[in-house]
Amino acid sequence: MKERMRFAPSPTGFMHIGNLRTAIFGYLYCKHNKGDFIVRIEDTDVARKVEKAVDLIFKTLDLCSMTVDESFKQPGVVGPYIQSERLDIYRKYAIDLVAKKEAYYCFCSEAELEEQREASRNNSSAFIYDGRCFKLSEEEIKMRLARGDKYVIRQKIKKDGISVYEDLVYGKIEVENRVLEDQILLKSDGYPTYNFANVIDDHLMGITTVVRGNEYLMSTAKYNLLYDAFGFPRPKYIHLPLVLGEDGQKLSKRNGDASFMDLYNEGYLSEAIVNYLALLGWSSADNKEIFTMDELIDVFDVKRISKAPATYDVKKLQWVNAHYIKKLQINELRDLTIKHLSNAYDISNIDEIWLDRLIKLYQLELKYGKEIVKLSSLFFEKNVVYNDECLKFLQDNEVKKVLSVYYNYIIDMSDFSIESINKMINDIKINNGIKGKMLYMPIRVVASGLMHGPELVETLYLLGKDKVIDRLKDYLKEV
Ligand code: GLU
Repeated sequence: MKERMRFAPSPTGFMHIGNLRTAIFGYLYCKHNKGDFIVRIEDTDVARKVEKAVDLIFKTLDLCSMTVDESFKQPGVVGPYIQSERLDIYRKYAIDLVAKKEAYYCFCSEAELEEQREASRNNSSAFIYDGRCFKLSEEEIKMRLARGDKYVIRQKIKKDGISVYEDLVYGKIEVENRVLEDQILLKSDGYPTYNFANVIDDHLMGITTVVRGNEYLMSTAKYNLLYDAFGFPRPKYIHLPLVLGEDGQKLSKRNGDASFMDLYNEGYLSEAIVNYLALLGWSSADNKEIFTMDELIDVFDVKRISKAPATYDVKKLQWVNAHYIKKLQINELRDLTIKHLSNAYDISNIDEIWLDRLIKLYQLELKYGKEIVKLSSLFFEKNVVYNDECLKFLQDNEVKKVLSVYYNYIIDMSDFSIESINKMINDIKINNGIKGKMLYMPIRVVASGLMHGPELVETLYLLGKDKVIDRLKDYLKEV
């Protein structure tokens, strides 16, 4: 049977790292098995719905090269693909379940439920709905429905026995039925709960494998009872380990959670983000770390998903991103960096060839696009600010002598090309007997403000004679 896998985001805002990781794992599993990737929008939580979130979900998938086989944009035969357009379907199935005595109308008001909760609190026991409405007579139910009383539909869970299923990551999961609540399936506003809709939709959409976060690992026991009550075959399950922040807590805004768009806008490449997220809780048998999407699809093995929580590590993401940046062609590198430069500096009159050379100068050290702003500031700011290490170095008498020599050479240069700069440095070496670190370090530090910076001759060239002279003058004046 062809695999059918769904990604089922709730449109509640940006696409966060954890969510995107779920999409990627599902996609890799699906495509490794030559299956169809379906996107279903789970928008039944009306209060949390955010406008434009759906567009962002599709934009993100597109930028990450995840091809969607079915969604409301390219429907197959199992639509609608948006839950709010399926309300009649949920109602029909909920009522079917009532007829089978596997669900029941519950008329308890919020105030009554609060009373029941209060009673549990007083007994120091966890509240679990006691199922009293299951005992209502047919007549009473009919009468209350006819009267227009507000109701929800609840799942009837038989409290004896144990629910067991096999998760492809976590193995055998066992939950005692007595701890399972008669959960609400259909709310009083006619919307289904996630708990109900996911079962109905996954069944009607022919989903063969459910891939989702492990926050659903335990409640899947209840979902399975629904599958059984309807007589639907259960799907396979892949629950994914949590993603933690570096502080060991669940990833959140406070400990570094980012949305895909945040990262993308900072100049992380989508290939790198996908590559990095694929490593968040999964590893290849040979521990290789750099993969294209096709390679990931090829080697993805669900058995290698770890049960242990994964830690979102920005440094590792940067390492992966830097790897991809090193391979960019100049036009791609320009696309990645230019908007950041133009936001930070006035580059409107700057020669394009010069700009390309500048960007190229940093290609090997750039970890993300926006970093170019900080790295290249020495080319745009009038003065460089020397840190303590540089200041200490520049105070040396020997350094001062070397820089006076440089000053005298450079001031006389009529041409400040790469060749002339190379020749000038070589002349200083031969004529003045300056060599090794003393030949390069003083001029590097004075011109760039860095002990370790980009390639020296190219840096001097891009700074231009005037800036180099100005910085030398400032320094010589002060010592
Ligand atoms: N809409 C759910 C969420 O965003 C999806 C859970 C699932 O994939 O079943 O958490």
